[in-house]
Amino acid sequence: MKRGTCEVCGKPIPDTAGPRAVTCGAACSRKRNSLRELERYRSIRDTEAWRATRAEYLAKLRDRRSADPAFDEEIRAANRAATARWLAAVKADPARVAEYRARRQAQRDAMTPEQRAAERATKRGWYASLSREERVRIYYAARALRALERVQGIAADLEQRATTTTPKPDPSHG
Ligand SMILES: [Zn+2]
Repeated sequence: MKRGTCEVCGKPIPDTAGPRAVTCGAACSRKRNSLRELERYRSIRDTEAWRATRAEYLAKLRDRRSADPAFDEEIRAANRAATARWLAAVKADPARVAEYRARRQAQRDAMTPEQRAAERATKRGWYASLSREERVRIYYAARALRALERVQGIAADLEQRATTTTPKPDPSHG
């Protein structure tokens, strides 16, 4: 039987694949599934029913978070961990860093002044929602660490110069 080509990558589907296989293997099959899921999500995202369900879900989540500090902290910790994982993956790959920066710049360039103002308001709201500890951790701890590293760098540099520079004879004495 003549097999077709993979729907995802276009390579021939191997004979060892199942009779109804539309991809070349597990990796492309997973990719196809997630693409289809994304497509499905996009197709329902803008419907009235979906928006209502989502709003209801978010309202319930907000209620539970404000009623249950432990649950709230659990969600925050999970969000932090997910963000840290994502950031580490991006930072480890210069191509992804460049791609991310270019995409962010393009988004900013495409924004209307109203959208820019809305984004600023969202950021301000987010900042205002942080606890003192979170602000210290997110902003000030990193800043203090950078300042400390700078000072240590300067100290090391001075020490280096003091040990490697041979003092010139001072003409005022002699
Ligand atoms: Zn493939």
